[in-house]
Amino acid sequence: MMVSQETLPKKGVIMVMLDTLMDKPFQQALEQEDLSVLPYFMDRGEYYPRVVAPYPTMSVNVESTLLTGHYPDQHRVPALAWFNQKENRLINYGTHVLEMRKLGLSTCLYDSFYRLNQEHLSSDVKTIHEELADQGLTSASINPLMHKGNVPTTITVPSLIRLFVSLEKNIEISAADKFVYGRLANLSPLKKYSRLWNKYGFNNKFSIQEFSHLVKNDTIPDFSFVYLPDHDKNVHKRGPMDTKGIKDMDKQLKPLMDAFPSWEEALKNYIWIIIGDNGQSGVQKDKNKALVDIRKLLQPLKITKLRKGVQNDDQVVVASNLRSCFIYTLKPDEVPVTEIAEKLQTDSRVEMAAWKSEGWIHVIKGECNETFTFKEGGSMKDEYKQTWEIDGDHSLLDLSITENVIEFGDYPDALKRLHSALHSHEGEFVVTSVKPGHEFISESTPKHPNGASHGGFHKNDSFIPMLVTGTDAAPDFLRIVDLKKWILNLIQSA
Ligand SMILES: [Zn+2]
Repeated sequence: MMVSQETLPKKGVIMVMLDTLMDKPFQQALEQEDLSVLPYFMDRGEYYPRVVAPYPTMSVNVESTLLTGHYPDQHRVPALAWFNQKENRLINYGTHVLEMRKLGLSTCLYDSFYRLNQEHLSSDVKTIHEELADQGLTSASINPLMHKGNVPTTITVPSLIRLFVSLEKNIEISAADKFVYGRLANLSPLKKYSRLWNKYGFNNKFSIQEFSHLVKNDTIPDFSFVYLPDHDKNVHKRGPMDTKGIKDMDKQLKPLMDAFPSWEEALKNYIWIIIGDNGQSGVQKDKNKALVDIRKLLQPLKITKLRKGVQNDDQVVVASNLRSCFIYTLKPDEVPVTEIAEKLQTDSRVEMAAWKSEGWIHVIKGECNETFTFKEGGSMKDEYKQTWEIDGDHSLLDLSITENVIEFGDYPDALKRLHSALHSHEGEFVVTSVKPGHEFISESTPKHPNGASHGGFHKNDSFIPMLVTGTDAAPDFLRIVDLKKWILNLIQSA
């Protein structure tokens, strides 16, 4: 069907996601570092320093929430690591290569390459790519982990990977029409930045090179989602205030801007959204204080070993997501979730542990005897017009209550985010997170003492900045979950 000229959008939307961009170090980099692209946008756009990321604050969840406009209770991608009750196994899309090797590298890679988008992401919700394709509009997905669309396409597993794992060479998926997924699916004929030692193209320079190919060929679609993954590891290693990584990203963005006839035209013809994905909290230097060993806390319960998988006499499964953790009881009669929660309560570093019981969500925290409970509906209304019934000590979630209005403090959108994490998948489990300065460890998990980490519930991990040029329209609320509706409106009314 031909679309008439009047209904075609004048501008497309280009969204560039800079992994782990955070407000404070960004402000510092603008002042102290010699930047060119980011200040150019800053001088011409609207800056929102605090947009709320979904919980747990892990990339797969952030991207799924952004693309579907729903929290994980609807999109069903709980976090990077979670326990699939139906298949009786831990899913891990790649927290640590050792962890993946123990779980089975072939299975883990197939989970990330295929099941994550095509099976785990709920087909009851639609991604921005799917919505636009339904309307006859086009989109690009340049290197994010989440990219489900309507267009059948093939990803090609590099032969070197296939020496070590039993995967088919070609995997059929459906994605955005312009689709880049490292070396496995690319647009330009260029091989640069996509070798084994470049993580097969899962890096900033490759993302920029591939999107620049669309710019140079004048084939930028109605919506482009360009993901730059590298800064995550800088912050993990060097701590939250790392500005060198921001300087690197600014430098890497320059060839992308230069691919346009001019920077002015790039901003005149397109709406730009430059955004982070999640924040990070500093982790203390002293390992003994910084790292909270979940295996010690759960003693003497029998925890499933990664390599063996669930055994008959196992009692609990642990799915660790850096500063957060899902802990599942395999035998609710023998080990009720309350017993798991009581064990977590003994550690002062635990900032929150929550579970479901009879329609209510129960919340406790480390070295505190108070409890707080809540459920959906009721006479209390929060900042996002969501309604709740609450009981107990609401200081546990740092809520301020005036009349019947709830405002959030250290834990943005605390009630809905916690509610959605606990309804994101099947099973009887506790979700817990640690205070800033700390990180959970269990079998073969990554650790970042004297650096930084994320996944947590705290605002440090949860607020991300967003910089927008080319429109005065703002989303209904400043949360990632609210961006899809706003982006679709921008494209349709542009
Ligand atoms: Zn990370």
